[in-house]
Amino acid sequence: MKLTLLGVYGPFPAPGKGCSSYLVEDGDTRILLDCGSGSLSRLRALIPDRMRLDAIVLSHLHADHCGEIDLFRYLMEFGLCDAPVTLFSPETERFTSPVFRPVRTSDGFEAKVGTMSLRFTEVRHAVKTTGVRITDGSGRSLFYTGDSAWFDGLADAARNADLLLADACLVDETNEKALQNHMTVGQVVRLKKAARCGRAVLTHRFGGETHLPALSDDDCIYAEEGAVFEI
Ligand SMILES: [Zn+2]
Ligand SMILES: [Zn+2]
Repeated sequence: MKLTLLGVYGPFPAPGKGCSSYLVEDGDTRILLDCGSGSLSRLRALIPDRMRLDAIVLSHLHADHCGEIDLFRYLMEFGLCDAPVTLFSPETERFTSPVFRPVRTSDGFEAKVGTMSLRFTEVRHAVKTTGVRITDGSGRSLFYTGDSAWFDGLADAARNADLLLADACLVDETNEKALQNHMTVGQVVRLKKAARCGRAVLTHRFGGETHLPALSDDDCIYAEEGAVFEI
């Protein structure tokens, strides 16, 4: 399975950068995970010809995760991407276009997309949000938290994932209000250890100016746009 980071910032992009969006591929199966700003442009640079996506997975409907979903709709309406496409989301009411085949996600919901198996977990955020474990045909897995505060069940959901892709928006451990919606860098490092994940990619980097602390674990790294991981 291959993970490509298309955009790694939130809740707004850093200058010249994009918001949350990731491409997950296993053989011919292709899943787009969130589609924040910049995602379609970056995806078209990778796949300049007519596009085929097996599914789009939205963790939640905040703009930094789904802001370009209508651009994907236009792409399909203009025949530059196969349609309909299965669209997983914890809220589906707004997706009325026939180019989308909406599927509502919830805690424990499972689905199969080509060679990949998906298992969703409801996480802690300001709006209904589902994280997802994606397992490929050979049993390798990644767990994506979406946007989430720390909660005890998160380590169970991420248990033994080969790669943890986690919301590490916060640096300040004392911002009580923000801690209800996102994790700190330190919490993600602890989550990776508690869940015994192979490695962690700290994403949803704050789009404003921030000083990122050095990471104490060699298997934890900060997300960078364009980075590719073989899982
Ligand atoms: Zn976000
Ligand atoms: Zn959010």
